[in-house]
Amino acid sequence: MAQERLEFQAEVSRLLDIVARSLYSKKDVFLRELISNASDACDRLRYAALTTPDLLSDDAEFQIRLSVDKDAGTLTIADNGIGMDRTDLIKNLGTIARSGTGAFLDQINGSGGDDEKAKDDLALIGQFGVGFYSAFMVSDKVDVYTRKAGDAQGWHWSSDGKGSFEVGEAEGLKRGTRIVLHITDEAKEFLDQTRLEHIVRTHSDHVAVPVVMAGEDGADNRLNRAAALWTRSKSEITDEEYKEFYHHVGHGFDEPWATVHTKAEGTVEFTALLFVPSQPPFDLFTPDRRHHVRLYVRRVLVNEGAEGLVPPYLRFLRGVIDSEDLPLNISREMLQSNRMVGKIRQITTKRVLGDLAKRAKDDAEGYAQFWTSFGAVLKEGLYEEPDNREALLELARFRSTTVDGWTDLAGYVERMKEGQDAIYIITGENEQALERSPQLEGFKAKGVEVLLLTDPIDDFWTAAVETYKDKPFKSVTKGGADLSSIEKSEEKEDEKEPAADIADLVARLKIALGESVKDVRASERLTDSPVCLVADDGDMDMRMERLLR
Ligand code: ADP
Ligand code: MG
Repeated sequence: MAQERLEFQAEVSRLLDIVARSLYSKKDVFLRELISNASDACDRLRYAALTTPDLLSDDAEFQIRLSVDKDAGTLTIADNGIGMDRTDLIKNLGTIARSGTGAFLDQINGSGGDDEKAKDDLALIGQFGVGFYSAFMVSDKVDVYTRKAGDAQGWHWSSDGKGSFEVGEAEGLKRGTRIVLHITDEAKEFLDQTRLEHIVRTHSDHVAVPVVMAGEDGADNRLNRAAALWTRSKSEITDEEYKEFYHHVGHGFDEPWATVHTKAEGTVEFTALLFVPSQPPFDLFTPDRRHHVRLYVRRVLVNEGAEGLVPPYLRFLRGVIDSEDLPLNISREMLQSNRMVGKIRQITTKRVLGDLAKRAKDDAEGYAQFWTSFGAVLKEGLYEEPDNREALLELARFRSTTVDGWTDLAGYVERMKEGQDAIYIITGENEQALERSPQLEGFKAKGVEVLLLTDPIDDFWTAAVETYKDKPFKSVTKGGADLSSIEKSEEKEDEKEPAADIADLVARLKIALGESVKDVRASERLTDSPVCLVADDGDMDMRMERLLR
């Protein structure tokens, strides 16, 4: 039967190009990715067989098998999972369905021979996850033989990873997928059994399906432990094992910044193993705001990203939640409105926020990094989930006019001036511009701290959240800020040095002219820096040029 030649989607070609160039030093990840896919395929068949047991026929023991043919120069990874039909093959191994891919690829778009840039690209592509296409880091040709569970017809996919692939019928295939890698001369090390065993043991030990390879004597060796990692007790799991598992479920190369492994017993029973990445995932701000946590029911993978399982403002989490109580055959639509799922969400959310609070306390520096990456996402929770508002307000960090780095609200309240009754905020696009804002002058003059909010989300939550510890948030731009009961700042009064810039100058003027001045605006457009004063009675403004000299 003739093979049909098809073009890769443009994004895939670009990705393959990048993979071939920039992942050079981390080649062995291809094996982890292919084993990860094989294990996913077994998980999916296990789930499908719940409603259609016939799919398993007489081959119910899931297994992933590696074999090497040194003469042919090939490494084969075979599984007896769900397999693919022609449509699946073309879609899964010819396109990238993930949203945000185009934008992501624009961002990396090649290193142009620049080593530093290549390193950045590597980190980025790590967050993206190269998946199946990583096979082309070590192969000049890849053959995929696959037959879908329940289908009679098998298929053969083949490509050299350069722009196109071929698909055609194949006869006599077992259920599942067999991937044959034609290893390049530079990657010959991956034909070495010991090397392969070592890679599987380090990167795929947590995979819950047995990975086997025939030894020299022909007998099968099992290379991994093959027990779902989250079912093991915390004290027995090493950081390394957690990390590898995170790479499997999180598709990243980075280290998990935090690991939350918890078991809930009582009204609902489940285990959660969740990770906070150290690098923001590439699709953090795509409009669908989907999370990627996997839902298992009694060790069977049900789906990934189930709506309602994790709140959108924690969508940076990666990992699994394994429920003991949910029905296995629950549909996507039913999940959304399921009470048990709601309970699981509530409990895990509280737990994650609690762990974050603890980390913030114990490791302020690390937490600042976390906040830089994910703060803008967490803040969505401030208006989306009033139940956790208190906790989120404690977790929130801000830039401010008087503190270097980040501050929390508790710190702000502590620094509030005598007579100050509100938390002052200003929103805008960037910190530097906000700091220069004339609306801050009165506050600077009195030494009153103002929080500088620069995330787009800030306009939303500040409209919904009224107070922190009974102190109202007040925008300095909305007027009505009454500073008259606040003592002038001591330091400012003593200041004798000439004003360094217009902002300082304006502050001094305000002090000099006292409370009759409502607002002072400096125009930066004019080189001679005129300042206009707005007095109590409205529009009356005067040019102050002379005064300034
Ligand atoms: P991801 O695993 O993140 O979805 P990959 O590039 O690794 O991305 O794989 C793309 C898709 O190809 C998978 O989602 C799956 O549908 C399909 N696939 C890959 N390997 C297998 C396999 N061994 N068996 C069945 N399907 C597979
Ligand atoms: Mg994959």
